[in-house]
Amino acid sequence: MNAFIIVDIQNDFCPGGALAVHDGDRIIPVINKLVLQFDTVVLTQDWHPDGHSSFASSHPGKQPYETIELSYGTQVLWPDHCVQGTSGADFHPDLEQQAGQLILRKGFRKGIDSYSAFYENDQTTVTGLSGYLKNRGVDTLYICGLATDFCVKWSALDGIKEGFSVYVVEDAVAGIDLNDSVAAAWKEMEAAGVQRIISTDIALKSALA
Ligand SMILES: [Zn+2]
Repeated sequence: MNAFIIVDIQNDFCPGGALAVHDGDRIIPVINKLVLQFDTVVLTQDWHPDGHSSFASSHPGKQPYETIELSYGTQVLWPDHCVQGTSGADFHPDLEQQAGQLILRKGFRKGIDSYSAFYENDQTTVTGLSGYLKNRGVDTLYICGLATDFCVKWSALDGIKEGFSVYVVEDAVAGIDLNDSVAAAWKEMEAAGVQRIISTDIALKSALA
């Protein structure tokens, strides 16, 4: 059974937001068209407390997009974004979010960032999504959203690690692209066995499933 995982379509990741992905909102109509084709729909929501360890502002002298060593490894520092309860953390108003059955919040532990929908950035703290999907008989994931090179990539890689077949919907993702990180992300995902698909090919695929 297939599930659609919609990653972080939030105001702060869209144009005008604190950590805007260039043209991030252009994928929303594509996602809205796809969402009704899936029996299981999960929305993830980046959801940070004030003073989160992934914010450059939490580390004196550090600027956004610099890196820092945290207990679990290297962490990119970001502008403050998706702070719990702010409008920046809300889903983009154009997103067809009513179809979402599970809203999975991540990044709410102050000391650990969470790009992936499955594991936090320490790669050991689980979100519980794998169990949720497996309990519902899901074996195949179609992933879309923001950003290709961070939360989408890590969710796709961890999906493979958890034993799912994983498709990333090429025209329903957009990236931040720090030093060609989008191209590197596609390479890494494909090497791990993630498949690329375009939205118009999904109806056919679902019909065959
Ligand atoms: Zn974040």
